[in-house]
This record gives sequence, C-alpha cells and structure tokens, in this order.
Amino acid sequence: LIELHGVNKHFGTLHVLQDIELTVGRGEVVVVIGPSGSGKSTLCRAINRLEPVESGSIVIDGRPLPEEGKGLARLRAEVGMVFQSFNLFAHKTVLQNVSLAQMKVRGRGRAEADAKSRALLERVGLASQADKYPAQLSGGQQQRVAIARALAMDPKALLFDEPTSALDPEMINEVLDVMRRLAHEGMTMVVVTHEMGFARASANRVVFMADGRIVEDRAPEDFFGAPESERARDFLSKIL
Ligand code: ATP
Ligand code: MG
Repeated sequence: LIELHGVNKHFGTLHVLQDIELTVGRGEVVVVIGPSGSGKSTLCRAINRLEPVESGSIVIDGRPLPEEGKGLARLRAEVGMVFQSFNLFAHKTVLQNVSLAQMKVRGRGRAEADAKSRALLERVGLASQADKYPAQLSGGQQQRVAIARALAMDPKALLFDEPTSALDPEMINEVLDVMRRLAHEGMTMVVVTHEMGFARASANRVVFMADGRIVEDRAPEDFFGAPESERARDFLSKIL
C-alpha cells in the first residue's frame, strides 16, 4: 500500500533520509523506532509529502505520489496523519474539528459530515464531548479527537508520529487502546513511538532507524528477542 524506494533527503549537509526502502502492505502495522534525530519524523512527513524529498519514489496504493497540485491533495487525504501535538482548531468544537476537512476535502454536506463525525467520536469513546472545545478536554481526549478527525477522511493508511509522547502517563493507554483497536481491525498504520508494549503486541514489523538509515526491519519478536545491529542493541538497552 505504501512503497518507498531509494528515497533521499538532506537538510543542508545533514543526510536525514539515506536510500530508504520501505514497503507497508495493506493491513500491516509498522512501528518505527530509533534515537532522537534519526529521521523518524522526516520519514513520516515524506510519506505524504509534507516534506519534499530529493530522489526516490513514493508510491501510495499503486500510484506515485505527485509533486504538487490536486492529485497531491487527494493522495494526502488517503494517508491520514496524527501528530504528537494534536493540532486541533482551538476555536472550533470537537464536532466541527472532525467535520471540517470532510466538508472541504471530501465534499460532504454538513449533515452527512456531522453524522459521520458523531459515529467516529462514539468509536473513540468521546460521543458525549462533541460540543466541547479542545481546551476543555484532556490531552488524551484531544488526541482521540485527532484520530477521529483523521479517520473521518476514510484514509487508506494512518501515520502516527509519537502520538502519546505529549501525554500524561494515565492518558497514554486510552490513546493506545484506540490504536490497538484500529490495528486489530486491519487499518494500515505506520507508528513512530517509544511504546514498546504497543510494538510487541500490535506491530507486524519493527523498523529501527539510525542516522537516516533503516538499520533493521523485522518482526517484533525477532527484533526485541535478538537485535542484529550494535545500534539497536545499544538503543534498546537504554530504553527497556
Ligand atoms: P525525535 O525522536 O527527536 O523526534 P526524529 O527521529 O523524529 O527525532 P527528525 O525530526 O526526523 O528526527 O530529524 C532528523 C534530523 O533532521 C535531526 O537532526 C533534525 O535536527 C533535522 N531536522 C529536522 N527537521 C529539520 C528542518 N526543517 N531543517 C533542518 N533540519 C531539520
Ligand atoms: Mg520525531
């Protein structure tokens, strides 16, 4: 569903993505881990061209990602993104936050969009919060709104960049629960996270990045059981 071949990118002299080869099949959950600055966020952003790359190809569902224009907006809508900071509109209600892009990008009328939003809010356990503003919600609730908003676009895949890193510990699980359920239901997901429990339980593969390269790409039980690279062993010894 998502294919990256020979993708390279620099920030000035920093080679932040080096010859990236990555394939994510339909229904697969790929967890991306690695030290700070290894290029995980840049990789996520490259997948839907929030970050332009210099070489290589990015193919989404069999179609090459266009450089710009209408085609890019359409393909971007196919790959939803959930960030560490929830990026909700502060002056819109929860319901409006989930409905807005559906109306703008998917061309749905308000009634249809709102009905879908309410169903999705129900799914993430927030049916009763629809008319509140983001500031009236906890971080965990806000992140679940952000997930509902991404789902509202009927994406073919979802990218998560450290979705629980900004949350207090007691709120992490309510967000991971939603993610675990999505994974179980067959959503294609690329998840940058430090939550190794999620990686072990829900990932089909773990991708370990260091210095802009994919160093390991293996099943979680293999990776955690016996990491092949010194870099991965070193990384795991620091976080586990
Ligand atoms: P973290 O775990 O801290 O989130 P990361 O693996 O997500 O790290 P990236 O955010 O992808 O890392 O950044 C990779 C490298 O690129 C870092 O050294 C970072 O400083 C650099 N970088 C990221 N964005 C930019 C930018 N817009 N301009 C210049 N350098 C950047
Ligand atoms: Mg990052």
